[in-house]
Amino acid sequence: MDNVLIPYQNGQPINADLVTLYLSGLLGAAVLAWALGWARTYMLALVSERIGADLRTTTYEHLINLSQEYFGGKRTGDLMARIGSETDRINLFISLHLLDFATDVIMIGMTAMILVSINPWLALVTLVPLPIIAWLIYLVRDRLRIGFERGDRIWAEVTNVLADTIPGIRVVKAFAQEKREAARFHAANLRNLQVNDRVNRVWSLFTPTVTLLTEIGLLVVWIFGIWQISNDEITVGVLTAFLAYISRFYIRLDSMSRIVSITQKAAAGTKRIFDILDHVSSVPEPSNPVYLPAIQGQIELRNVGFRYGTRSITRDINLIIKPGEMIGLVGHSGSGKSTLVNLICRFYDVSEGMILIDGHDIRSLPIAEYRKNIGLVLQEPFLFYGTIAENIAYGKPDATRAEIVSAARAAHAHEFILRLPHGYDSLVGERGQALSGGERQRISIARALLIDPRILILDEATSSVDTTTEKDIQKALDNLVRGRTTIAIAHRLSTLREANRLIVLDRGRIVEIGNHAELMAREGYYYRLYLAQARNVDTEDRATVSVAEHSAAGERK
Ligand code: ATP
Ligand code: MG
Repeated sequence: MDNVLIPYQNGQPINADLVTLYLSGLLGAAVLAWALGWARTYMLALVSERIGADLRTTTYEHLINLSQEYFGGKRTGDLMARIGSETDRINLFISLHLLDFATDVIMIGMTAMILVSINPWLALVTLVPLPIIAWLIYLVRDRLRIGFERGDRIWAEVTNVLADTIPGIRVVKAFAQEKREAARFHAANLRNLQVNDRVNRVWSLFTPTVTLLTEIGLLVVWIFGIWQISNDEITVGVLTAFLAYISRFYIRLDSMSRIVSITQKAAAGTKRIFDILDHVSSVPEPSNPVYLPAIQGQIELRNVGFRYGTRSITRDINLIIKPGEMIGLVGHSGSGKSTLVNLICRFYDVSEGMILIDGHDIRSLPIAEYRKNIGLVLQEPFLFYGTIAENIAYGKPDATRAEIVSAARAAHAHEFILRLPHGYDSLVGERGQALSGGERQRISIARALLIDPRILILDEATSSVDTTTEKDIQKALDNLVRGRTTIAIAHRLSTLREANRLIVLDRGRIVEIGNHAELMAREGYYYRLYLAQARNVDTEDRATVSVAEHSAAGERK
């Protein structure tokens, strides 16, 4: 301006060399900015994707290593929302906005230096809006964070509705509650909307206010500049250059203030992610793990007591199960049978006493190593989406087809599997929905047998199969049980006849121990349980007969 245009207006010729120099300088800067901008965006995309993936994996890994207790108190949708979307926010913040923020700060600093070097007084005027912006940021920051936190919780509520109803869709439909569930979803969405609206109200006012302030700043600079030019303190060129720089200064200031929202969003997300990451498993790995070469399978429960929260479930359990012994756990529903098994598997730690395997406290054994010795059939069999073969081989993914088939045979699953359209490669659907309850149970028995465990735990393993199938499975199990320490839980007491000893539980205490004959002779708790059941079976049988007679009569008609 001062070297070319103004001299030209004053009648001097245009200095072509200078024009070329300046313009090519500008072009060079633009090209360089393009190249650096491209490199930056590309690098950031790479980095941000990796940070996001990393954070997600780390959080997930930590999560699945937490104890069952943690999951007991959490909701699927909430955890999914945290791992899904909040990691993304943090990642975005760290990778994109944090760097943007850094460039903003550097640019503001450097532009300020240039401004000061051009004209310190003008530069000082430029800073007028700064304290007001800072004050505004201070005002909105907490409001935003609280709003975002609330938004996150409500968003989790939205996902929770989905995580509840999709797996439970049969119940929803059976009880014709579609409308109510839709309304619940709608309500969660509405709350989400309201919270977002509130945040947006604060935010929508904040951003334009910052822009307004910078515009006013520009105006003040104009006024001050013109006044200085009229006093011959600066030239038009200086003011032009100053204005060019100052717009950059304010643009950066504007973008820097926008980061407030993103920071608060990330802060809210971080809080919820770290809630998972900071959680220490209530079933901790031992600090000095004892590595056992191979376990024999002796299980000792010594004064074992257990509480869920403050509710005492089992007390004073003393029991030694010899290697290879088969134990039957019986007792009324809710007497603590599954709980005892949970303790032996170390899904929970005992509240009192200790559990020893081959004389070692299970809390001193590396958890995964220890659990590899246990074949567990859960009361509610759970299958994963995938093929039958994959589900059977879940505990030993490299099992050969022959191993899978022999486990399935042992669990009396082979025949029905072969009847499926794709045999062992048939998909079981989510949670094994494509199979019947009894089929699912047999798959989960096969899964437990495949890993050839020293300790076999069967929690109501055959409750969903008919008596004939159960007998078949029982026969097969009798062979498999041999040599393994086995704990079998069953309500149908007839299935536990083979057990070496029956442990009778009542309200969390052992009330009787002995084999079937001994316990029957004692005429105690077990005796009464058995008789009650036998009577029921009798009535059931009579009922079946009468139904048969009835239908036969119908046919005759
Ligand atoms: P069933 O024969 O019906 O399977 P069970 O003998 O296996 O019964 P447990 O599952 O061991 O019974 O439950 C014992 C008690 O512990 C029950 O009263 C139950 O309500 C309680 N309980 C079980 N799981 C939990 C939990 N996660 N939190 C709190 N209480 C629990
Ligand atoms: Mg149970």
